[in-house]
Amino acid sequence: DICMNLRQHTGQGKALVLHIKDVEEFDLLGTWSSPTSSSVGPSLNESLDQLIRKGFFRPFDINICNEALPDRFSIKDRRALAVKLGLCLMNFFDADLTSNRIHFLGPKPYLAFNSELSVTTNSEIFLVGHPALLSFAKLLLEMEYGQNMDIDISPHNSENGQAWFQLMHRLELLERERNDVYVEAIRGCLTVHYKIASALRLRGSEHKDVDSIIRKNLYMEIVYKLMIGHEHSQNGYTHARKRRRRDSLERTTPEYKKRHIPESQVLPAVSGSRIMSSVRPSHRDDFEIAIICALQLEYDAVSYIFDEFWDDHGDPYGKAAGDHNIYTTGRMGNCNVVLALLPEIGKASAASAAASMRSSYRCLRLAILTGVCGSVPHRQCREIFLGDVVISKTVLQHDFGWQYSDGFIRKNTVEDNLSRPNKDVRNLVTIFETDRGRDQLEQLTTQFLRQLQANAAWKKRPGKYDYPGTAEDKLFESTHRHKHHVSPTCICRNCFNDLDPVCDEALISSCADLGCDDERYIARKRLQAMHQFENVGGDNTPQPAVYVGAVASGDKVIKSAAERDKLSTKADVIAFEMEGAGVWDEVPCIVVKGVCNYADSHKHERWQNFAAAAASAATRAILARYIR
Ligand SMILES: [Zn+2]
Ligand SMILES: [Zn+2]
Ligand SMILES: [Zn+2]
Repeated sequence: DICMNLRQHTGQGKALVLHIKDVEEFDLLGTWSSPTSSSVGPSLNESLDQLIRKGFFRPFDINICNEALPDRFSIKDRRALAVKLGLCLMNFFDADLTSNRIHFLGPKPYLAFNSELSVTTNSEIFLVGHPALLSFAKLLLEMEYGQNMDIDISPHNSENGQAWFQLMHRLELLERERNDVYVEAIRGCLTVHYKIASALRLRGSEHKDVDSIIRKNLYMEIVYKLMIGHEHSQNGYTHARKRRRRDSLERTTPEYKKRHIPESQVLPAVSGSRIMSSVRPSHRDDFEIAIICALQLEYDAVSYIFDEFWDDHGDPYGKAAGDHNIYTTGRMGNCNVVLALLPEIGKASAASAAASMRSSYRCLRLAILTGVCGSVPHRQCREIFLGDVVISKTVLQHDFGWQYSDGFIRKNTVEDNLSRPNKDVRNLVTIFETDRGRDQLEQLTTQFLRQLQANAAWKKRPGKYDYPGTAEDKLFESTHRHKHHVSPTCICRNCFNDLDPVCDEALISSCADLGCDDERYIARKRLQAMHQFENVGGDNTPQPAVYVGAVASGDKVIKSAAERDKLSTKADVIAFEMEGAGVWDEVPCIVVKGVCNYADSHKHERWQNFAAAAASAATRAILARYIR
């Protein structure tokens, strides 16, 4: 225990040397040494402050004539060092982590603290000007510019207004040059106090560990971003800008950078009364928002966008008699949310589960059915990709009607097929159909997707929700069936048109195993632009696009490109799923689903987690931005 140790050694004039054992582990090693000892001790070594002063961190591209420079740290080394220091920050957010306290023994950074550490700082109070956060922002900027900055940081928040302003100004100058994750981490240092303060204010019970709330926020807003920056530097690409997929040219214009604003500014300001309403609710009737999932993997993805759970220590709310649903309750931003996992997939199960839910949660205003779906490959002239998000304007039942030999005729028109959505839901969806509304939703979705990925990494599942890559996004021509292509001996031999059957083995085999032909891909513009960007090691989380349109719902899974194209032409359907029709009639509902296949016969197994994460992020964005 470091605090104990420090207290015991107070006044002995010794220095405590600590270092993080490994980037993966958060373990600390510490040794005491007296400054006069000639063995190991920071006094014999140079501090980061001195190294910066001597030019070890000067950028490579600045040409300084007639000056002998020492071997400088490579971008990769700097990013690795930044991660290590970030991990230190998580442990020492109450300490004075400045460049003159960081020493190097060989390649490893050490922290040196005076044993006469001042304990009268107000580092537990997260206001603007928090000394440790400002010091760390300064440190990251110094390592970036390779120069010591003449900014005084006081141990007291209230005296640091000027310092915060100066650092923010330097950050803005840097942002004008580029906007990569390292820059985002610096911005995190200067804005995370707001998030920590809100989280501490909103924390439901006193039992919750204050330290873990602080650490988690530092991890999500600073350390995780430094880790991503380190990863990018290993790929030899450090200046990745956030991608605008719709128009690859747009990302080079200064306009885009201006529009990238931290989430804390996008979210509506938290008023006093809203804080009161978002403390732990006392009864089920205080829940107005439900999120419904049909698959466990969808439920898992949603669980990473909760800010806080109300049922960590058991379910405090119970449910109505006869309700067999499984619920999780918690908070997302200022909304209390109940999350339900349906017992089975399909319409009937969804309808009875939604009815039960309404009996337990009587005051629901909106249910968002989220998860994964199949989609058409394009909507008018916009291409739809795996990982994009579809929002329902209407839901129609595609298997409600008479079966004809040449296909399927729906019984009624779209409007009569299911009752019209209520006015609130219609208005909400109308916003997303406007250009501005959609742009905002897409940006916010991307931010929450990042947050979801960081949260999963924090909970020891790094990479689970990563983008699978453009190479995995294959769209075949409609007529190209998923069957044994290479000299088949099975019934695939006789499969020529869309109605001919294929063998059972083909149904469960991958495209590669069957020989589904690479030449039969449909080339698409947006994907090619993204692919080029990927090749230079660009940021690997694209911005999911959002589409609004009719969603076809039915117990039959659509696995036919011909059927897909027919429904798309006849009823302007953009996506296919199985539960919407069941929920729609029971509670005011919108379907928000991530595209994980093209509703054809081919397999796209790797996309489910990412698509579910994108849909969860979009759901979270809708709640953050539009639900009051
Ligand atoms: Zn076969
Ligand atoms: Zn295939
Ligand atoms: Zn073929």
